[in-house]
Amino acid sequence: MAYDPNNIFARILRGEIPCKKEYEDDFALAFHDINPQAPVHVLVIPKGAYENMTDFAERASDSEIGGLFRAVRKVSAQLGVDGPGYRMIANIGDDSGSEVPHLHIHICGGRKLGRMIP
Ligand code: 5GP
Repeated sequence: MAYDPNNIFARILRGEIPCKKEYEDDFALAFHDINPQAPVHVLVIPKGAYENMTDFAERASDSEIGGLFRAVRKVSAQLGVDGPGYRMIANIGDDSGSEVPHLHIHICGGRKLGRMIP
């Protein structure tokens, strides 16, 4: 499926919709989830137009891929969850229940999260 340039996170990237920004660099933007599921719940998204992790892994440059994961690491430190721990989640496709067709990595933490497999 072609990337939808009007999905909600694309609009946040273009500044058309506000967000509570946590971090930004050349490769990534991180902002707080509008419906947090944990005391810390931030979404880290690549600046490029990628629908999900499959699309990202196939088309993104090594710099973009490294940049996104370095941003996750920086955000986790900035939020103070890197010490106590946190969970990264990236939903892909219908079975995952993914809602927004722009790759986003959830960073959840700030409390004991319990087991989640699946
Ligand atoms: P998914 O289910 O696609 O992995 O996660 C989408 C996430 O985006 C959900 O946790 C939802 O709360 C969040 N979300 C949806 N719309 C908005 C929005 O307009 N702003 C922000 N900050 N988060 C959003």
